[in-house]
Amino acid sequence: MKLIQELYGNGLISEEKKSELESQIARTGVTEEEIILKNKIVEEDFLFKLKSKILKKPLLKPKAEEISLDALELISEEAAINYKMIPLFKKGNSVGIGMVYPENILAQNALRFLSHKENFIYEIYLINFSDFNNILKQHKTLKRETKKALTQLDKEKEEDIGRLPQQDAISLKMIDDAPIIKMVLVILRHAIEGNASDIHIEPNREKLNIRFRQDGVLHLSLFLPLSVHLSIVARIKILANLKIDENRIPQDGRFSIKINNKDVDFRVATFPTLWGEKVELRVLDPLEGLKSFDKMGLRPRSLELIQNAIKSPYGLVLSSGPTGSGKTTTLYSFLRTLNKEGVNIVTIEDPIEYSIDGVNQSQVKPDIGYGFSEALRQILRQDPNIIMVGEIRDEETANLVIHSALTGHIVLSTIHTNSASGVIPRLIDMGIRPFLIPSTLKVAISQRLVRALCEHCKKKVKANDRAKNYILENLKNISPLIKKELEIPEPLYVYEVNGCELCNFKGYRGRVGLYEVLSMTEELSDTILKSPIENLILKIAQKQGMLTMAQEGIIKVFAGQTTIDEVIRVTQEI
Ligand SMILES: [Zn+2]
Repeated sequence: MKLIQELYGNGLISEEKKSELESQIARTGVTEEEIILKNKIVEEDFLFKLKSKILKKPLLKPKAEEISLDALELISEEAAINYKMIPLFKKGNSVGIGMVYPENILAQNALRFLSHKENFIYEIYLINFSDFNNILKQHKTLKRETKKALTQLDKEKEEDIGRLPQQDAISLKMIDDAPIIKMVLVILRHAIEGNASDIHIEPNREKLNIRFRQDGVLHLSLFLPLSVHLSIVARIKILANLKIDENRIPQDGRFSIKINNKDVDFRVATFPTLWGEKVELRVLDPLEGLKSFDKMGLRPRSLELIQNAIKSPYGLVLSSGPTGSGKTTTLYSFLRTLNKEGVNIVTIEDPIEYSIDGVNQSQVKPDIGYGFSEALRQILRQDPNIIMVGEIRDEETANLVIHSALTGHIVLSTIHTNSASGVIPRLIDMGIRPFLIPSTLKVAISQRLVRALCEHCKKKVKANDRAKNYILENLKNISPLIKKELEIPEPLYVYEVNGCELCNFKGYRGRVGLYEVLSMTEELSDTILKSPIENLILKIAQKQGMLTMAQEGIIKVFAGQTTIDEVIRVTQEI
């Protein structure tokens, strides 16, 4: 009776209460913890902190959604319930086990046995009842739904044998099946709750792999039998309005679905593979994607330049960067700021990534001759105030975009270049006459996404030679305007990844943007007219206070938001 004794010793219960609790335990045979909570003597958190102190075992507050399914698979549901223990995380063959009763000898024996059988080593953490139950619930739902779907499908297959000679075609009934619908929902929900950005559904010779990508890294997560492959793919195709019977060519689509009371958009792409169709789903969380742009991690100077640009009555704002750098998301943030009553906003996109209330969004269809330039021509007749054009891909679109900006519209678009200063030569390459650029282009942004360090476990270390050289190389000859912001710490330190249970031992959690923001000025106009060479443009922009991508990155390294490795990785991307 250690806990009751401790509560009594601390004066939290009377001697009378103490013996009452003890007799309840003797009568009912339940544990001390349960009796204390049932009688509402102290809060659960308090009780487990106390227990952690007595047992000298660390107390962990895991989040159910951060627990990977392949770790959960290590302990059967029965054993988990019986011994109140559950795997929390896995790193190689080392597993963290959460236990409500780490002192229980039977549970310890069971765990030892399992670790031999499944060949893993483990570390034990104390967890409380609520956390245990939450994790178990997630574990159970996924397993139950999967099993139900499988049994149902097996049954139907038997029924169908009499009717269909071959199981090649998918009967509509199979797709309408509640278990399949539920299973797809379980997969989608798991992705959202685990903060995954992509879901890959890939068949191979033996199994159907369902993998979830978090922070740009793929994690193996769930295996299903191949027998559910066709119906899962069919269900997703129905959601995304794709042709169910077409499995020889890739298809693209999108759909929106309510998950945990929030509308979430998904982009879908299918590809034929040797083992059947593969499906990739990109999660387009509207709340995440449409973050207001003062929360994007822009420096105050860049923020001000952009705010001024999009508030002007007309002009062009261009965002550039490689695929996956978030350049479209940036434009969406601007649109959200500009989206007010009385303002007519029209977009031309390929594909439409997020739906925004109050904005007229249209999808181009190049295969039927409705490309960006055709769409733009048609849209100009609707007299919009603000136009977003998904991407400037060709000369015709480039010309129309410039023309629209000149005729009193705010135009937002993306263009494929590596740097902000490269945007101007790129426009000229696309046939835009240099003298048109200073009067239209207000701001050119280039951006990259780097992985953000886990706040919980990052390590401050002395910079090694590689980091030191990179920093010094990129910070020489900087303009006095930005010297203040870029003070080199003495001694020179950086942050490194470490890894903890909170970040699944990756050392990174989430992502953060790096932005180069170039703004049009008199001096720059002169250069564009005389000799619009990228290097010259860059020099002038830097003199005016623009930071390069590498310098932006170094600021975020000093601030402990990311690592030198991440900055080097993205600044070398093309
Ligand atoms: Zn961490």
